[in-house]
Amino acid sequence: MNDRLTNERCFEQAQSLIPGGVNSPVRAFHSVGGTPIFIEKGQGAFLIDVEGNQYVDYVLSWGPLVLGHAFPTVVESVVQSAQNGTSFGAPTRAETELAALLVSLFSSMDQVRFVNSGTEATMSAIRLARAFTRRDKIIKFSGNYHGHADMLLAQAGSGLATLSLSACSGVTLHSVQDTLVAQYNHLKSVETLFEAHPGQIAGIIVEPVAGNMGLVLPQHDFLSGLRRLCDEHGALLIIDEVMTGFRAAIPGAQTHFDVQADITCLGKVIGGGLPVAAYGARQEIMEQVAPVGNMYQAGTLSGNPLGMAAGLSTLRAWLSEGRFEYTSQLCREFVEGLNELASRRGILVQISSIGTLFGIYFLKEPGRVTNYEEAKRYVDPVRYAQFFHQMLKRGVYFAPSAYEAGFMSSAHTKEDIAKTLHAAEVAFALL
Ligand code: PLP
Repeated sequence: MNDRLTNERCFEQAQSLIPGGVNSPVRAFHSVGGTPIFIEKGQGAFLIDVEGNQYVDYVLSWGPLVLGHAFPTVVESVVQSAQNGTSFGAPTRAETELAALLVSLFSSMDQVRFVNSGTEATMSAIRLARAFTRRDKIIKFSGNYHGHADMLLAQAGSGLATLSLSACSGVTLHSVQDTLVAQYNHLKSVETLFEAHPGQIAGIIVEPVAGNMGLVLPQHDFLSGLRRLCDEHGALLIIDEVMTGFRAAIPGAQTHFDVQADITCLGKVIGGGLPVAAYGARQEIMEQVAPVGNMYQAGTLSGNPLGMAAGLSTLRAWLSEGRFEYTSQLCREFVEGLNELASRRGILVQISSIGTLFGIYFLKEPGRVTNYEEAKRYVDPVRYAQFFHQMLKRGVYFAPSAYEAGFMSSAHTKEDIAKTLHAAEVAFALL
């Protein structure tokens, strides 16, 4: 640690050279105010900033770090891989190994293609759905975020939502003209779109658990209803498991909710903290992808050995020794504890969890959030910001936005949860 450094000073320097001082908008703390902490290092469940402050981390790089920071076998595998060369632009056996693991776990996938980000995975999945169906239009849901491809910014997702931008400048009307936006948990809104555009809809893309407007679970029959509508209308169901994959359930939310995707998008956990994502589907769909088919998609660093090593070692550890079960149980206990503290204080909240994901809404008035429109109506971002800063002061790092999910890792302990709940008790009293 360099003790002359402060978060303020680092942020000042960064702002002069990088837009907003950050390389992804939510990191700038715009929706909670104040100065972002600049990270010096991560260890297990903890972050340490440049000033030497330590925080229990519930962001975990926005999901990938299921084992916590710098997990020994992950670090070893990456170092070992780097010693043999960092990228070849030619195939390696590690790609086949990770592909085999994913295909063996997801019954909806016969083949998988690796890319470098969730954005690339969803963008390619949509191209693939269009290629396979020979149709143009897609349906997405307001408040679902699938990365920053033009056609998917028809309506703002998390980062954009919290920055209060009503639309994204630079995205032309032309590029969103084939994107239809429906309401999450509202099958009727999807039916209406199918009726209005018969024979034109290539697919639906959905977050099986919405994790980019806070955490919103799918209501009974929502996902199976989407499956049915896709089957009735000859469209493909693209399940975006970039966030939920290996976090909501093993292997993903589609298993938990018993719904079969046509195309699955993965990211985050499968790269163990390195830039890896993927899309996969059954054989007849994946045969559209070049070089077998005509749907072109490529990448200089796709499937690179460091990412494959990190993904493989992360998944191997995560799938062993009951780590997922332990972490899910911890997440449940945390959410129950927080709910109890809030209700004791009479604070209006909606706190939920699934697997190792959780969400905390502070509400302006009694109500229930089941979609983006209700999130906008009921959620009190000002109260969240106060809570966030009270927690930060007490060494707990939650997402710096009221509309994001929280993440738990197997490095978190009961003591960390107790510390967090104690801090929350004090924070609630001060709100
Ligand atoms: N899809 C979902 C569900 C996500 O949560 C995200 C990012 O948070 C993405 C896609 C985009 O992934 P990336 O940030 O790797 O481009």
